[in-house]
Amino acid sequence: MMTDTAIVLSTTESVCPICLARLPAERVMLGDDVYLLKTCPEHGPFQTILWRGQQPAYIEWAKPKIPAYPAHPTTQNNLGCPFDCGLCPDHRQQTCTALLEVTQRCDLRCPFCFADAGINPPPDPDLATIEGWYRRLLEAGGNSANIQLSGGEPTLRDDLPDIVALGKSLGFQFIQVNTNGLRLGRDADYVKRLKQAGLSSVFMQFDGTHDDVLMTIRGVKQLDRKRVAIECCAENDLVVILVPTLVLNVNTGDIGDIIEFALDYFPTVRGVHFQPVSYFGRYPQIPSDADRITIPEVIRLIETQTGGKMKMSHFTTSGCENALCSLHGNFVVMPDGELRSWSQQNASGCCTPQPAEIGATKTRQFVAQFWSSNANLIALDSIRESKLGDWDVFLARTKTHTFCVSGMAFQDAWNLDLERLRECCIHTVSPDGRLIPFCAYNLTDQMGRSIYRNQQATIIEPCG
Ligand code: SF4
Ligand code: SF4
Ligand SMILES: [Zn+2]
Repeated sequence: MMTDTAIVLSTTESVCPICLARLPAERVMLGDDVYLLKTCPEHGPFQTILWRGQQPAYIEWAKPKIPAYPAHPTTQNNLGCPFDCGLCPDHRQQTCTALLEVTQRCDLRCPFCFADAGINPPPDPDLATIEGWYRRLLEAGGNSANIQLSGGEPTLRDDLPDIVALGKSLGFQFIQVNTNGLRLGRDADYVKRLKQAGLSSVFMQFDGTHDDVLMTIRGVKQLDRKRVAIECCAENDLVVILVPTLVLNVNTGDIGDIIEFALDYFPTVRGVHFQPVSYFGRYPQIPSDADRITIPEVIRLIETQTGGKMKMSHFTTSGCENALCSLHGNFVVMPDGELRSWSQQNASGCCTPQPAEIGATKTRQFVAQFWSSNANLIALDSIRESKLGDWDVFLARTKTHTFCVSGMAFQDAWNLDLERLRECCIHTVSPDGRLIPFCAYNLTDQMGRSIYRNQQATIIEPCG
């Protein structure tokens, strides 16, 4: 536990990972690292690593925002955050990405699974229920949210193209599917039907460039299938984002190779989105700090493993969610394959709090523009570029040849920071139509009990 040299940086709130009581918490610097400290009257003190190392520095990374409260909250403040989600009137960011879990079935049994999917799944929601969720989103804030169809494994549904088409017909511009990619790698007609229905992009689980990594994290060899899936997406002009779950000492040595793999498939693959492993849903053991990888470590590993092609200084915070939730860097792929950063040009001022609403709008637009197909523009640009100077080629390519490396450090019951949660912009639509911030929806205590997911089966009351 902490020594005299600990410096309290700021205070926040959290929960006890054993009983989920709300607790006051402190962010504390010890040496070069930052920890979250909290003490449950019943279960004692908890200390969890938040930020390892001073490159980049925690204090410079954490940036305040002017909150954007939900236009139409649907729940009241009653038990206190995180038990009032709906969204409640205290929430401080609007919906940027809405997750619709269209099945709890899955064709894998991964040792790590945020959704704890595939075990005794309930029947899939029918199209009328899903239409109700889409309409609920329209009531909550218009049709500007980006949609992610998730699960379980959504491609187990033969009618997934119908679900995409339904969302498009209701006015949602950007619809993405979150998938392990296995069906896309064996069913070309299905990929074609998804494209024809209006799917914008594929968020594809991709944990490593070696089958031994995939065996450890997913329990099956599947690299060849993933390649076929990406090639099939290319044939159907569907953009792919690769999504590795990072597990320390399993695939953290593969970060550079994953980025290289993605670039080999550019422009079909437009980016890599790293997710350091979090401990909710299904995971092999109760976590210690040695099981965690933090945002600054991911950034440092990217710099080292890309041989400096991507540097720490190329990465910034998001203007949308809380700064401590994520990292992102935008790069332009030049005609000779060189990567040039353009994150700095987009970064907002570092000292003045920015309105969260503007951050949400920019992020929605960024994702919709750069994670959707623009094959026609790319073809046109290569003709135009032959007449342009180097700087003008760079500027032109910021619109068409952007490659994005991003990451999100989901929170679990040990490292949950309620200030971060209140600024969450990624909201799951629960079966009863409430909007629940992703980390609250998936939160489980040490016994695996959930606040929101599978409520009929495992709902628990907070004890504090
Ligand atoms: S996470 Fe947001 S919506 Fe949920 S209880 Fe906290 S403030 Fe309210
Ligand atoms: S999902 Fe979790 S990590 Fe991501 S923005 Fe929301 S609170 Fe932050
Ligand atoms: Zn407790």
